[in-house]
Amino acid sequence: RVTAVDVAHRFPGTDILFEHLSFTVEPGQVVALCGPSGCGKSTLLSILAGWEKPWAGHIEREGIGRVGWVFQNPYGVANRSALDHVAFPLLAKGLSRKEAEAQAREALALFSLEDVADRRFAELSGGEAQRLMLARAVCSHPDMLLVDEPTAQLDTRTAESVSRVLGNLAGQGMIVFVATHDPHTRDACDRVIDLADYAPAEDETEEESESPDKAAEELAPALQEP
Ligand code: ATP
Ligand code: MG
Repeated sequence: RVTAVDVAHRFPGTDILFEHLSFTVEPGQVVALCGPSGCGKSTLLSILAGWEKPWAGHIEREGIGRVGWVFQNPYGVANRSALDHVAFPLLAKGLSRKEAEAQAREALALFSLEDVADRRFAELSGGEAQRLMLARAVCSHPDMLLVDEPTAQLDTRTAESVSRVLGNLAGQGMIVFVATHDPHTRDACDRVIDLADYAPAEDETEEESESPDKAAEELAPALQEP
């Protein structure tokens, strides 16, 4: 279970991205994190992963051991095959090559990538590379899977199939957070957290933008004094 308690975040020197964010997510749920570009979706994923410390509030994680991450931009080794990308972490974990490749092929098939298993990473399309990252993350059997824009480069049908797979994974007891601006992907989730609802209220922003001016006004006479 993951609980956010009155979480707010800002980076040093920037405005507050979101505040008063509280929620509890149980295993089995797929949660969409929505909102306009720059509202803090990827940042909230980092906070949930424990990489970034929230500026205020805190995250409680119970029964979450392994955390899987799928970044917004797929990354890989150009000359290595798709299969290698998924099998490598399994080999590193001590599985035999045969067992690692069998599990890797299974994960690839989950995301309809069986036909590109032997293709070099550099040759994959953007959407294939993105799904490859999902297959790799799933292979580590995380308790919580954090996915950043998984369907940005996919056509509607492939996007729907990715949403379905994420739903099935959650059904097996995983917690899945999906940062997305795609309305289809959002609608396929069990729950939606729209970060726009947690943006600071307008008057607060005005107050903040006023205060430097006030400080300048107060400073001005002092600066003019000889
Ligand atoms: P998108 O939909 O474009 O992916 P997002 O909602 O994921 O956007 P974030 O990547 O979380 O947005 O970034 C939120 C804001 O915080 C942006 O304005 C970004 O420039 C800023 N930001 C992110 N990381 C840092 C950092 N380390 N230091 C300062 N500002 C940062
Ligand atoms: Mg982002």
